[in-house]
Amino acid sequence: MTKGSINVSVENIFPLIKKFLYSDHEIFLRELVSNATDATMKLKHLTNIGEAKVDYGDPKIEIKVDKEGKKLHIIDQGLGMTKEEVEKYINEVAFSGAEEFLDQYKDKVEDAGIIGHFGLGFYSAFMVADKVEIITKSFKDDPAAHWTCDGSPEFTLEEADKTERGTEIILHIAEDSTEFLEDSRINELLTKYNKFMPIPIKFGMKTETLPKPDDAKEDDPAPTQEVDNIINNPNPAWTKQPTDLEDDDYKNFYRELYPMQFEEPLFNIHLNVDYPFNLTGILYFPKMTNDLNVQKDRIQLYQNQVFVTDNVEGIVPEFLTMLKGVIDSPDIPLNVSRSYLQADGAVKKISSYITRKVADKLKSLFNNNRGDFEKKWDDIKIVIEYGMLSEEKFFEKADAFALYPTVDGNFYTYQELYDKIKANQTDKDDKLVILYASNKDEQHSYIEAAKAKGYEVLLLDSPIVSHLLQKLETTKEKISFARVDADHVDNLIKKDDSKISKLSDEEKTKLDELLKDVIPSEKFSVQLETMDSDAAPFMITQPEFMRRMKE
Ligand code: ADP
Ligand code: MG
Repeated sequence: MTKGSINVSVENIFPLIKKFLYSDHEIFLRELVSNATDATMKLKHLTNIGEAKVDYGDPKIEIKVDKEGKKLHIIDQGLGMTKEEVEKYINEVAFSGAEEFLDQYKDKVEDAGIIGHFGLGFYSAFMVADKVEIITKSFKDDPAAHWTCDGSPEFTLEEADKTERGTEIILHIAEDSTEFLEDSRINELLTKYNKFMPIPIKFGMKTETLPKPDDAKEDDPAPTQEVDNIINNPNPAWTKQPTDLEDDDYKNFYRELYPMQFEEPLFNIHLNVDYPFNLTGILYFPKMTNDLNVQKDRIQLYQNQVFVTDNVEGIVPEFLTMLKGVIDSPDIPLNVSRSYLQADGAVKKISSYITRKVADKLKSLFNNNRGDFEKKWDDIKIVIEYGMLSEEKFFEKADAFALYPTVDGNFYTYQELYDKIKANQTDKDDKLVILYASNKDEQHSYIEAAKAKGYEVLLLDSPIVSHLLQKLETTKEKISFARVDADHVDNLIKKDDSKISKLSDEEKTKLDELLKDVIPSEKFSVQLETMDSDAAPFMITQPEFMRRMKE
């Protein structure tokens, strides 16, 4: 047996590790399962290139809780380690990794936004365990090794009699961390962090119902069998090629990702790029609802199929954080603060790539099936309008598909709207006026009056649209927007001959006289020009200033 002392400058880094990011203790399991996955993938690679002459087989990773013995086991069938490799990789590499990590970040805990998601690696085990054992057998011929460390820099290393290839990590769970001896807690963590990891992860057994044999009687119970309870899907949709996926595959994956979300997504965007950075993922446009789950079901960030965070602020442009789905990229630095992240060149490129893909998708949906796009407009407009306001590139691209609906249910692009109004407002060479309403019922009479005069009236009712109109007024030439009930609209509205009342002057005078007696002119004004429109025979309106006085 070897006894040794790990060579560290900090006398005892374990209390530090323990204190570090107290709330993030749970990541130890993600780190250990990641190591088990890495070890398995490395073996796969070595057998593929012929360096490891062993049968790769059908390896899995197993997690076992031993509640009585207060132990948690993480067992893999990966490449394993020889005694020398334990010395090197655990005592030196893992340790110096942890030390370096602490050196760099121990003073920045308050900036932990994303740092907290950066693992300490193997040594994060000491956040929850007061003793850790490694029993490992390399794929090479060397005997197995057994390493034990109780949280001080002292360790023991001896030979072991393990014969199957792979590594078993045994955590002796500390008194203050017994939550990690509960099946439900481990299940929760595995589901959170490892749901899509590439090697099957077994946690206990489950009962599977088999089909009844042909000769079974009506009320014979269906036969059952005990099978491994595999908690992950090793081949999630985003790791596949878009050409290999049907619409239903995307919908099913959405359900897998958000089991508590019953609303179907409107459409999805498959991200897949490997140069100049590596990124895959699937984004979904959800139906915008007031559902509380919307807040919870956020875009999830993965690195090589390991869950990192569902706070993608700084990585995805803000207007797209309303979307759902996953992005997976090894190129997003996680050991840095948010503010650094936003300034990082790679992250900037990723952010603008995502923006471009979303714009391209919207454009192709619009081009391929405009009717359907119009139907979805109400559900997606917030994201698009917000994007147009906040991202210049998106604003430019959105010109092709951003829609301006009218009170009559027509949808125009900006260009269509412009052409239409230009053709109508022949008397206005200087500036075209685009009328809009924000509430069809409240502004009904104004809308009807404007329509009667040949005006198209937009119905713009989203909360941020007024900002967007301002932006359009400053970027587009020679247009201005006016709300249909604004004071000055009367002056702007062109007198269109075809819409002028068919009443004779004599009839009008009579009607005027009649109305004067019943309607106080200082409070209301009477318009007769709408006589032949769909509106009432004449219109009584209350001037803007009168309405303000009431308030
Ligand atoms: P990292 O995974 O970033 O290399 P870790 O601290 O998590 O850092 O692990 C240190 C090293 O210990 C790994 O690089 C690997 O060589 C070795 N190791 C850890 N766990 C295992 C395992 N289950 N099987 C084989 N080697 C392992
Ligand atoms: Mg690791």
